[in-house]
Amino acid sequence: MTLIIDNLAFDEKGLIPAIVQDDRTGKVLMLAYMNKEALQKTIDTKETWFFSRSRQELWNKGATSGNRQTVKRLLFDCDQDALLVQVVPQGPACHTGEETCFYETALEEETSNREVVQEVVAEIKDRRNNPVEGSYTTYLFREGLDKILKKVGEETTEVVIGAKNRDKAEVTSELADLTYHSLVLMEELGVTVEDVKNVLRKRRPKKEVLRDE
Ligand code: AMP
Ligand code: ZN
Ligand code: ZN
Ligand code: ZN
Repeated sequence: MTLIIDNLAFDEKGLIPAIVQDDRTGKVLMLAYMNKEALQKTIDTKETWFFSRSRQELWNKGATSGNRQTVKRLLFDCDQDALLVQVVPQGPACHTGEETCFYETALEEETSNREVVQEVVAEIKDRRNNPVEGSYTTYLFREGLDKILKKVGEETTEVVIGAKNRDKAEVTSELADLTYHSLVLMEELGVTVEDVKNVLRKRRPKKEVLRDE
């Protein structure tokens, strides 16, 4: 790893912000500050070390909680005043127990489209475990696998018809129907979105692994 600590722009207190990112998912986990010593320890131990501004002391992430972070890659930005630490976390990054410290949205709810699939999955799971009268999802689970498969087939056909007409709005709407019914099917069979993502990830061309230089 080429990293010349002396070229980094530590601030007047001798600190540099370090963004910690999950190397596997790309999620931003936390922001903390390193001084030279914390950075050196991070490089030497391949675990994250920070300098606590409130406690004015070095801090090895996970030392008490066990939620250590194994460093995979360490990058600095264009003007050398920020670090990006890509890690494999052994547990939640946040002291609240959340996977990431960034779990609150500062904007209106609807702006966080990225989460909508997880929200729908959670709702589907809930409808299955706690049936609600009049709920279509509950109805699908009560009818069972054959009904769900019939709907997946229908929605697939509707996607094809929309696509044949090159009707983008219709295709989009039918893809949403197909996605929802696919998620219901996945819940019925115990397949998770994460399972599918893992298959997609495995199929990607191999990334060159980091070498020491
Ligand atoms: P840990 O490093 O996970 O063993 O936690 C030890 C202490 O470090 C906690 O009690 C918090 O004071 C602090 N801490 C842990 N994780 C974070 C975080 N993501 N952001 C800020 N402080 C943290
Ligand atoms: Zn910068
Ligand atoms: Zn936190
Ligand atoms: Zn449809």
